[in-house]
Amino acid sequence: MTSPPNVVKESEQRSRTARHLAAHAIVALRAGFRVERIALDAISNAHGGVVCDWKQAREAYRDDEKLIHRSFALVYVGGLIDQEHLENITDDLRAEMKADMAASEDSRETAVAWNLVASVQETNAFARIGYKLASRLIKKDGPLIEKLSVLLAEWGSVDEASLMEWFQQNASPYSLDELEKTNTY
Ligand SMILES: [Zn+2]
Repeated sequence: MTSPPNVVKESEQRSRTARHLAAHAIVALRAGFRVERIALDAISNAHGGVVCDWKQAREAYRDDEKLIHRSFALVYVGGLIDQEHLENITDDLRAEMKADMAASEDSRETAVAWNLVASVQETNAFARIGYKLASRLIKKDGPLIEKLSVLLAEWGSVDEASLMEWFQQNASPYSLDELEKTNTY
């Protein structure tokens, strides 16, 4: 028997949304951005379900271009992870995608505000590099994303301290700089 196409089990929706949010969180943690909270039930707010202000990392980075690349990776990883499960996009995910669209616009505008380029039309190269990085990171950290999404689906939300503790216990370290340099797509 097959289910009608619009009917997706609630638990399945929940784990799919959790996977999307976990992907954002893992990129943020790999990039050394503060993640103040991940919450499955907070998706309808303007910032989506992951509270992360990547611009706080500007001083520590001392490299605006690198930071902008990674901010695009942070945004795009959500859509990329959804591509593996494109059937039946839920309302929650649609709201989250809208927040992601706004976030990518913000990255473009920030690149202009920081004088990296003269106009948002010239930010496509940054966006492409960010997209590639997100794609590589999913290949490398797929199991880690999956693991965090299971935890998130179970808990509903994860605060900063718990997330950091979880990350230290579960993530094997590697260099994001190295990942940015590799040629495999
Ligand atoms: Zn998202």
